[in-house]
Amino acid sequence: MRKQIAAANWKMNLTFQEAEKLLDDILDAGIKLTDHQEVLFAVPYPYLLMTRSEVEEEPNYHGAAQNCYHKSAGSYTGEVSAEMLHSIGINYCIIGHSERREFFNETNSMLMDKVNLCLENHVIPVFCCGESLPVRDAGRQNDFVASQLSGSLFHLPADKIKMIMIAYEPIWAIGTGKTASSAQAQEMHHFLRSVLADQYGTAIADEIPILYGGSVKANNAKELFSCTDVDGGLVGGASLIAQDFIEIITALK
Ligand code: PEP
Repeated sequence: MRKQIAAANWKMNLTFQEAEKLLDDILDAGIKLTDHQEVLFAVPYPYLLMTRSEVEEEPNYHGAAQNCYHKSAGSYTGEVSAEMLHSIGINYCIIGHSERREFFNETNSMLMDKVNLCLENHVIPVFCCGESLPVRDAGRQNDFVASQLSGSLFHLPADKIKMIMIAYEPIWAIGTGKTASSAQAQEMHHFLRSVLADQYGTAIADEIPILYGGSVKANNAKELFSCTDVDGGLVGGASLIAQDFIEIITALK
């Protein structure tokens, strides 16, 4: 079975003390993950080491970064490299979140460099794609997300693409309380898998987890995650509330 993942994206929220308490509250629920399930906590950089040590004894729970820089090292004040993440035991990183594409002008080609640097440094990219409302209203969502994948991922050989995770996050559903219906999510995930299959063959496409993100909540996670091609979720707002995220973890297939 493909990996099923619940990934928390805390963004720029919580003090260190609040972050520690939230992690404790979630881990205290004692949810044992199966071999094919994983939980990721994408926390602000200053909390990565604390997160890593909190999850150390918990099989299949991992810390993750929310971003890394698109250069390997050098005079880039304030930036963090994929190599640095790996050196502190952080082996997952969100790449290309729509907020980074929008507010920090990240392009497909910069994201390609980030993906490469992550893979070179044994950091698994959680690669985000997704269309805006005008793009969906114009019926161009499939072409749009396909070009995000081809622009940043399709240079990878088969043995590398197998390492990544994809998160489909329609921008109109992020932080808006407006979730894609399970039918819309399944339709897009199925399309993304077919695009991967055209490029790499079905065996590889069937291995790559595709998470859904966009107002995943405790009360809709089960229905979304039950879709054949939805392999869990990338969760913003609801991952900041212990009980809600606990219920989202338990909704994994
Ligand atoms: C996100 O930021 O990746 C996200 C999906 O946020 P939310 O769950 O709040 O919509």
